[in-house]
Amino acid sequence: MIAALAGGVGAARFLAGLVRVVPPDDVTAIVNTADDDEFVGLYVSPDIDSVTYTLAGASDAVQGWGRAGESFRTLDALGRFGEPTWFRLGDLDLATHLARTRRLHAGEALSAVTAQLAASWGIATRIVPMSDDPVRTRLTVTGADGQLLELAMQEWFVRERCEPPVQGVHFAGAAAARPAPGVLEALDAADTICICPSNPVISIGPILAVPGIRRALEERRERVVAISPIIGGKPVKGPADRLMRGLGIDVSAVGVASEYASVCGTLVIDALDAHLAPAVEALGVRCVVTDTLMRSPEVAADLARRTLAAVA
Ligand code: GDP
Ligand code: CA
Repeated sequence: MIAALAGGVGAARFLAGLVRVVPPDDVTAIVNTADDDEFVGLYVSPDIDSVTYTLAGASDAVQGWGRAGESFRTLDALGRFGEPTWFRLGDLDLATHLARTRRLHAGEALSAVTAQLAASWGIATRIVPMSDDPVRTRLTVTGADGQLLELAMQEWFVRERCEPPVQGVHFAGAAAARPAPGVLEALDAADTICICPSNPVISIGPILAVPGIRRALEERRERVVAISPIIGGKPVKGPADRLMRGLGIDVSAVGVASEYASVCGTLVIDALDAHLAPAVEALGVRCVVTDTLMRSPEVAADLARRTLAAVA
């Protein structure tokens, strides 16, 4: 059995490779929900949707999020009414948010709804939100006038295009959140726990902030293997560099290792960063060097195979 801590796009690519090398129903993905938010009254869970659409083979291959063949006619129509349209919700994607929101309003838990939607796609892998309780990433940033202000994750990431410099991050609600049903059980039963190549600050950080999850990894540290999302001092995509720098974390595989050192015994880094292996190992983290840029599902499968072998 394998458990994987997962954010959105980077995680989804890795998981798509993983399920090519192990039976898909051996895998439980524990997914970040701290990016979740409401738009036009609908509950949107971006990382769960990235993982679900990718494992369904239904995601947009170029951008890596949202659905293939998407259109935005409904959003355009909403814009006419003066509704905010900065968060891009596609016509097909809206069906997910409508179904999810209705079921949540009917009293179902996010974990139950997530499982139902994944089953509708025929996905054998278990996709589990980190928690059914609300946890929200809040970023303290410097505004245009130099004042500090607090933004929700999507406000900073999408609306403000990651421009305001980040001074701090916190996960509102985390202290009171409980792991969703199945999370601790999956971590306990796993032969291997993967930390996907996801944003360490705002994808993996919130999962580890749910009480009980960090300790579960610490207790099984020798079975935990992470893949660095930073290659050659840069994220493959997304704002991990801005966030890491803002929090004083070195933007490198070594910075990733220092973030994960207490929870993970092994870090997989890219061949481009081979010279950093001694610095990673100096932190007490075993280092494995391989090709980690997932150009295709085949490369992702090779990466998954090497990742599992690293702790076999
Ligand atoms: P998000 O919520 O959609 O931003 O998704 P994640 O947190 O899962 O993924 C973002 C991280 O994935 C970024 O830091 C990227 O550097 C990393 N990432 C994306 N593609 C790849 C890849 O092919 N290889 C590696 N090593 N990291 C990747
Ligand atoms: Ca995300």
